[in-house]
Amino acid sequence: MVSLRNHKLLARPIISVALVALLLVTTLGVIVYVQKTLLDIEEALPITLSKQERDIRELVNEMGRLVNSIEFARASQSPVQVRIVFRQTGEIEKNLVAVRDNHRFNDVLGVSTIHAILNPAIYDIRNWLSQGIYNFEPTSAQTLKMVELRAKQAYDEAESLLSKVGKTATDVLTAQAGRIEDFRAVMIMTLFALTLMTVGLVMLGFRLQRIVLALRESEEKIRYRANYDGLTHLPNRTNFIEHLTESISRGRRFPGKTALLFIDLDRFKTVNDTLGHDIGDELIRQVAVRICKAVRETDVVSRLGGDEFTVLLPDLHDELHASVVAKAILARLSEPFILDGHEIYSSASIGITISPQDGEQAPTLLKNADMAMYEAKYQGRNTFRYFTSQMTDRARHFLRLDKEMRQALAQDELQVRFQPIYELAGRRMVGVEALLRWQHPTKGLILPADFIDVAEETGLIEDIGLWVLRRACSDAMSWLDGDVPDQFYLAVNISMRQFKGGFDRSQLSLVLAETGFPARNLVLEITESLLMENDRRIRNVLAELRDMGVRLAVDDFGTGYSALSYLRDFPVNTLKIDRSFVHELASNRSDRRLVEAIITMAHGLDLVTIAEGVETSAQGVILADLHCDMVQGNYYSEPLDASDVSALVRAGSRLLRAVPDA
Ligand code: C2E
Ligand code: MG
Ligand code: MG
Repeated sequence: MVSLRNHKLLARPIISVALVALLLVTTLGVIVYVQKTLLDIEEALPITLSKQERDIRELVNEMGRLVNSIEFARASQSPVQVRIVFRQTGEIEKNLVAVRDNHRFNDVLGVSTIHAILNPAIYDIRNWLSQGIYNFEPTSAQTLKMVELRAKQAYDEAESLLSKVGKTATDVLTAQAGRIEDFRAVMIMTLFALTLMTVGLVMLGFRLQRIVLALRESEEKIRYRANYDGLTHLPNRTNFIEHLTESISRGRRFPGKTALLFIDLDRFKTVNDTLGHDIGDELIRQVAVRICKAVRETDVVSRLGGDEFTVLLPDLHDELHASVVAKAILARLSEPFILDGHEIYSSASIGITISPQDGEQAPTLLKNADMAMYEAKYQGRNTFRYFTSQMTDRARHFLRLDKEMRQALAQDELQVRFQPIYELAGRRMVGVEALLRWQHPTKGLILPADFIDVAEETGLIEDIGLWVLRRACSDAMSWLDGDVPDQFYLAVNISMRQFKGGFDRSQLSLVLAETGFPARNLVLEITESLLMENDRRIRNVLAELRDMGVRLAVDDFGTGYSALSYLRDFPVNTLKIDRSFVHELASNRSDRRLVEAIITMAHGLDLVTIAEGVETSAQGVILADLHCDMVQGNYYSEPLDASDVSALVRAGSRLLRAVPDA
């Protein structure tokens, strides 16, 4: 489209230049022609004049000869002589006509006057010679005498005219030469002016053309910017909505469906925050290219902004085709990206909505597809979901939940439970993990799985997390009567969002100062993804926390990224083996080998291992066999109220309580 427009833009200057060139050539041609003609006239004029003079003189001479012949005829009075006179009059008449016709300047030298003198004379002479006059015979002496007189009279008149002609001719010539000179001067001036004008016009034309081109170019750019995304050169939101609206209205006229795919990269923010915006931009560009490769030419790929893309599949016969496209896109995006030497793995969540059944308005369809995309994220990311009407309920649920959570925080509906952690070798409880609970006034107890994600998304987790930390520390101080033994530790989960939101040494110091809980007894459980962030600020915060004496445990170890270099680079002390590996430990040999490998590796790196979610004694036995350091799970103890932990602590010799038989 753009190149076509350029073509048109190029055609205009070519036409203008051609027109100006044509004008120039025509003007020059006309001038050369006029100049040449004038020169011809100038050269031809004296010749013409002298020839005319000669012709007239010849006529006068002929007239003189006629007079002689008539005289002779009158003397001899023979019919032969009369015939000769006749012939001569015929000759003179012919020459008279020839002279008049031949000389265009007849008025100047009096050709017409000669004509006016000689013609009637010849007429009379011929008439009298053939018919006679005053009843005399045509050849009678009287008639011939009259004829002779008439001829003489004409001859005399012609002769006297001829004598005047010479002077007139000179005057005329001088006058004409003057006129021609003036004409030539005017012509030269005109030529000069025309040339100047033409040059000026050509220059003006080029200048105008340049201005027009520049205007067109900027107009083109503005139009482009209004309709295309600068980073990926894909249609932008406005342009996309136009395509979508057009496709929907075409669907009303012809049978066929339109599918709208809403694509959102998973964890794009992490790439942007950790590797910088330039690499983030490059990822977006490469993603755009891959999406385009996964679809047909007729499908419309757009970038709505950020890490959001849309694909429009028009004229669809089978809506299942949309899932084929979604799978193709996911497959292409799952290949690693090489960005500035970094190998990055990315994925996306895709929401699909179909028109007309899901809606016939562009905003509705976009909202539906967006919701379906969130559903795909909710279902674990790197997948796609078709929009269903239940999803709108889910969106409402999301908003309501956010509102209720804010109230819960304000109205003290949140609680902290503590799940004991046991050391296998010493068979004793060595600490607890603080776990959040929500005691909803009408819905009862709500587990974190049902609200933590929403809190993360809205950012409320920053406040909630800080609240949990403060509450857990102060509860622990109350069980321990302010005397925290060295071997006891309190684990608190800190989400990535909290670190991003500014959780750091000073926030923690404040809580510890308020509650009196010692930093050396605190373990912060962080996720693998946080360590994968490669963010200098987070790295510094973690180092500062370690310097305070706080220990760091990697939670849900094994479920995140596979790169393990972070274990070397970050000051972590503990690995918490995810409960998904523990779950089938007794029945699944490869899970057992995996857990064994994790423990061996951890010990090699001087890291303490904790197995999460231990539910059976068999799992406990195996973990003991594999030299896992600590265990946590419902088999040993479910999460407890602060008061229960307090009782537990008091009942046992302080923290030392035997682990139930494995
Ligand atoms: P997590 O940190 O890995 O916590 C362990 C989870 O395993 C807890 O679930 C615990 O109740 C559960 N669990 C313990 N023993 C067993 C068992 O034998 N079987 C099974 N199936 N599960 C067991 P919970 O309390 O529902 O917490 C879920 C996740 O929510 C936590 O996983 C943690 O990631 C997050 N979470 C909980 N409290 C907080 C908090 O205060 N702040 C933040 N940021 N996240 C929290
Ligand atoms: Mg945890
Ligand atoms: Mg865990």
